[in-house]
Amino acid sequence: MKSYDVIVIGGGVIGTSTAYQLAKKGYDVAILEQNDIASGTASRTDGATLISDKQPGIDVLQGYHSVELYKKIAKEFSYDIEFKSCGFMYVCETDAEMAAAEDYAAKVRAQGFEMRVIDSKEMCEREKYLAKDLKGGLWTESDGLVNPYKVCFGFIEQGKKYGLDVYTHHEVTGIKLDARNQIEGVITDRGNFITNKVVNACGVWAPFIGRMVGINIPIEPRKGMLLVSEKTDIIANTEVIEFGYWLAKFFVDFKRPVSELVEKHNVCMNIETTHSGNTIVGGCRLFRGYDIRSEHEIIQAIAERAIRFFPVLRDINCIRTFGGIRPFCLDQLPIVSAVEEVPGFYIAAGHEGDGIALAPITGLLMSQLIAGEKTDFDIAELSWARFKGIDLAKLSARAS
Ligand SMILES: Cc1cc2nc3c(=O)[nH]c(=O)nc-3n(C[C@H](O)[C@H](O)[C@H](O)COP(=O)(O)OP(=O)(O)OC[C@H]3O[C@@H](n4cnc5c(N)ncnc54)[C@H](O)[C@@H]3O)c2cc1C
Repeated sequence: MKSYDVIVIGGGVIGTSTAYQLAKKGYDVAILEQNDIASGTASRTDGATLISDKQPGIDVLQGYHSVELYKKIAKEFSYDIEFKSCGFMYVCETDAEMAAAEDYAAKVRAQGFEMRVIDSKEMCEREKYLAKDLKGGLWTESDGLVNPYKVCFGFIEQGKKYGLDVYTHHEVTGIKLDARNQIEGVITDRGNFITNKVVNACGVWAPFIGRMVGINIPIEPRKGMLLVSEKTDIIANTEVIEFGYWLAKFFVDFKRPVSELVEKHNVCMNIETTHSGNTIVGGCRLFRGYDIRSEHEIIQAIAERAIRFFPVLRDINCIRTFGGIRPFCLDQLPIVSAVEEVPGFYIAAGHEGDGIALAPITGLLMSQLIAGEKTDFDIAELSWARFKGIDLAKLSARAS
């Protein structure tokens, strides 16, 4: 039976980043993935690496550290992750959104990060296809884009240089514990492994791994959908998002002057043009269980909203659509933590719509936790202990 210092379960962007960082620290580490690398949510996403779609506080702090790490990784890795430091723009349709955006930007600046209020004229100079009747927006210089698939494969290729072992098509079906509840090994459908440290990096499937060690992890799948255009000239130079998107992410009851269809499916515009010249537009936030099918009404609503902000899209063909599920944690912060009641069990999951952006810092923080080092910044707010005294069985019931 193979034996490892640490086994990472899940070959998505969080698991590959964590495995890479651990291998780099000299650990004998393996990654176990039930399908292929980047076959879960990491392959059903766009690639915004943003500080600016986070909540002020630890969320913004994680975003900042992660974007800084992306800049380093993009230079160090032999594998091209298509990192582009292109800036980021929020656009506001109404005065109410503009007021909320200004308030948000002031909070981000108070934390020491740059975020500038810009007028409609500057917005249209930066994005020539943007609708001309918007109120204004926010601009952040440091944010960027990556190719999420390539990020996962970049971590794997770089990790292998430090001895990382990769087992794809190995579904974890159980975890062995000793009499003191300490991790002893991992059971898969293709054989067992010995280890006394396991990282659960299974995104929306993290609750199922949690149950294998007797804990309820409060993560639920939150659906999104994206439309991909044919290749064209660059439609959007940067990632552009309507500010209503941020409001909808954190304030479920925020109302916008939108059509019934857009309202019904909680659709907000985000757009990016990829390295290969296809434009991706989204998106929505819905609780639909584990269903990732494309839904016709949502496609219509996303197209309607995208054309509202980028009228040129009316004349551009959509070549495919897809859905994905974000790992939504009940208090809207990821869990990056040891689990005290199960010695040797760690969780790195629950990044909702930010897993691509936060992968580098999550992997680094997790490797520091496992090594018993001081983390780059205080991450008590990301700990498993924050759920003590909360009825998690009730909260995670929807994940079953
Ligand atoms: C439409 C959409 C748009 C998004 N846009 C962005 C964006 O622009 N920027 C951003 O930062 N984030 C974005 N996100 C969010 C981001 O994609 C996720 O946060 C991220 O992919 C989660 O990564 P993960 O590694 O935790 O999960 P996953 O990528 O799902 O990886 C988990 C892995 O665990 C494996 N697994 C599960 N169970 C087992 C088992 N029993 N045994 C072995 N393996 C197992 C799965 O097969 C899977 O590969 C978006 C998400 C969606 C849906």
